[in-house]
Amino acid sequence: MAEPTVFEKIIAREIPAEIVLENDRLIAFTDIKPQAPMHVVVTPKTAQYRDVVELAAGDPDLLAEMVQVARAIARERAEGDFRLVFNTGELAGQTVFHVHAHVLAGSLGEGSLA
Ligand code: 5GP
Repeated sequence: MAEPTVFEKIIAREIPAEIVLENDRLIAFTDIKPQAPMHVVVTPKTAQYRDVVELAAGDPDLLAEMVQVARAIARERAEGDFRLVFNTGELAGQTVFHVHAHVLAGSLGEGSLA
């Protein structure tokens, strides 16, 4: 069995995180190294999907729910507009291979991507 990722440990409450939203399928928490005034990670509770390509193929409804949750968080914690980033693959900066969206809002700075 693969080593649990840091996100699985957050879901299992084995390591602490500032959880901003949780339901039966998703969890959202603030990023430990924020790249914008609001930087929240939204991720499924299942570790089944490594990246957004796998998720889109395997459970498009769950992907759609992630987008809706991102919007709700941006409305609640920022001014409503947001950037959604899915780093996909190591060369694109993905470090945690448990699909997740970065929800970024506020002044992002020039060229900054999570
Ligand atoms: P990736 O680089 O895979 O797109 O994004 C992984 C994100 O997880 C990074 O932005 C990183 O800062 C965040 N992260 C890594 N470890 C932790 C942690 O222990 N707690 C929290 N809240 N975020 C983490």
